[in-house]
Amino acid sequence: MTRLSRAWLAAVMVPFFCHTAPARTIDSPYQVGTWPGFRTAALSYTFDDNCSNQLAVAVPLFNQYSLKVTLFTVTSWVTSWTGLKNAAAQGHEIASHTVTHVSLGGLSNATQDNELKNSRDAINTNITNQKCVTMAYPNCVEASDAITSSYYFAARGCSGAIEPKTPVKFMNISSFVCGSTGSYTTAQSLNGLANQAINSGGWCILLIHGIDNDGGYSPIASAVLSSHVHFVDSLKSVLWVSTFGNVARYVRERDSVSVKELSSNANSVTLQVTDNLDSSIFNYSVTVRRPLPAGWTQISVTQKGQRLNSSIAGQNVMFDVVPNRGDIVLSSSVTSVAAGSRQTSSPAPQGFHARVVENSVNFSLPITCSGTMSVELFDARGTKIAALTSRADESGFLTCAFPKELFNSGIVVVRLIELRTRMSQNNATEECFLFSKIR
Ligand SMILES: [Zn+2]
Repeated sequence: MTRLSRAWLAAVMVPFFCHTAPARTIDSPYQVGTWPGFRTAALSYTFDDNCSNQLAVAVPLFNQYSLKVTLFTVTSWVTSWTGLKNAAAQGHEIASHTVTHVSLGGLSNATQDNELKNSRDAINTNITNQKCVTMAYPNCVEASDAITSSYYFAARGCSGAIEPKTPVKFMNISSFVCGSTGSYTTAQSLNGLANQAINSGGWCILLIHGIDNDGGYSPIASAVLSSHVHFVDSLKSVLWVSTFGNVARYVRERDSVSVKELSSNANSVTLQVTDNLDSSIFNYSVTVRRPLPAGWTQISVTQKGQRLNSSIAGQNVMFDVVPNRGDIVLSSSVTSVAAGSRQTSSPAPQGFHARVVENSVNFSLPITCSGTMSVELFDARGTKIAALTSRADESGFLTCAFPKELFNSGIVVVRLIELRTRMSQNNATEECFLFSKIR
């Protein structure tokens, strides 16, 4: 090795993912979820070696349940990036399984460096909507931690154990090899791992190669996978399924985040959620909760005017927030929130109100012109749950009545669209209501 190349290697081996212990302080009465939504455990599906049925069979299967997986990709084996680009666009993680699938342990530092860096760079060149920040060791042979951690903040091995809520070693996170080479060949055996994760409160990672007869190592039957994923979907209130990278992000953020209440009065609370991690990588939302402030019957949670995903569970309000993105305001007053990409918020129209009448919730609005209004309801995740269109009655009031059970809990966003025949654009106003208890 020349003097020059040694100097270069020393420079790139300085880990840029700093793991210095942060000052983590959580003000009372806030709590940060061990897992998103205060679920009990986490589960990740990882697919190695670019086996053809991963894109053809597995990704469509997981898409049916809106579940995201990780595809650990050997970059020199990629014949077309199109399928991986499509999977990335659907939210799946494209991560590294090195350039040539060589066992890294014991190889020269320069060879390890090439395999780890060049595979990451190839992925980042081709997959541009996400960063490649995790890898899996070929043949489960661990590489140099110093070199691996200079490119990746988490790396996967396969020692066949469920990790605790914080993995013992981020540069060798365990997984279970599924399929014909081991004991995880049936849906029951995979379901058992999901149950073990729930019982332990930890993180279970499955490692899958071939599916059916695609020629991949240790194949598993697609029917087994399908049955298992259906079972896991039934556990979604307690089991969080996400990519290897996002679960690892959540762990780092949850373990380093601080929650600080800045001010509070009868009608609003302002707080900060921060960490000292690299925000360009650690950009996943953590779940924070606190009791609903005394006397509040409705709430909105916003950050820089944008509504955060929030819900009421029992006496608690729970919300998802990406650290380091500005003050968060909890407000007891009804707050207007702009839809989607629109940055301006508009106030609720004068006289707009909601009322419970027997088995329905009626929205009323005085209309001075002879216009038609469309009223749409959305849940806290932005999914439309109902819509009605109505004209004003003789007294100038428009009323839309929705079944009461739509409002059983949580925040419902009401979007009013005034339909004016002579205007090219509809005027939309949004209003956030909390219907925690309607009797
Ligand atoms: Zn492999």
